[in-house]
Amino acid sequence: MKYYILFGPPGAGKGTHAGAIAHKFNLKHVSTGELLRAEIAAGTPLGLEAKKLIDAGSLVPDEVVEGMIENVFNAVKDVDGFLLDGFPRTIPQAEALDRIVAARGESVSGVISIMIPDEEIRKRIAHRAAIEGRADDASEATINHRIETYHAQTEPLIDFYRAKGKYNEVCGYPASIEEVRERVLALVDTL
Ligand code: ADP
Repeated sequence: MKYYILFGPPGAGKGTHAGAIAHKFNLKHVSTGELLRAEIAAGTPLGLEAKKLIDAGSLVPDEVVEGMIENVFNAVKDVDGFLLDGFPRTIPQAEALDRIVAARGESVSGVISIMIPDEEIRKRIAHRAAIEGRADDASEATINHRIETYHAQTEPLIDFYRAKGKYNEVCGYPASIEEVRERVLALVDTL
């Protein structure tokens, strides 16, 4: 089984390219953001708790997303691997992922990172807010907090995976969606 991590700041285009990668390489696309939004929509206790944090631009607790990922790994069969989108987002999550895949006799296959500058993050999220109506996209304070959270808690993962020789980056800006898709698919071909 392959365990790929699709990495990048909010708005980098992870969700845009995940489908094409998952389709081409027969992977299950797992977006922790989407799973959390489904919990919110279903009004579960977990969803209610997560909503407050997400709307504020904060991360939900590590254990919550780690549990979700483990559930998906256990439930999904008939794929050649997983494409993790939005997970891990902290060093403890990355360490948990290592333990979870090790328990399955496997290891993380590689990180596919799409990089864009902060200014572009702001523009894209503002644009997406108009289209998707996500509460966490709507306020400038929330967007700023997400960018800060990314730099403080998620960016350290770059060195974490670089040290393991598993970090691979494509440039997500300036480039068209088609160009980025080609770069990402070509990269995964080499992993
Ligand atoms: P984006 O790509 O814009 O960051 P996501 O859909 O990936 O959006 O995530 C939306 C929100 O869901 C995050 O801001 C965070 O609050 C929460 N979330 C998603 N994944 C995780 C995770 N791995 N750990 C903690 N919180 C998460």
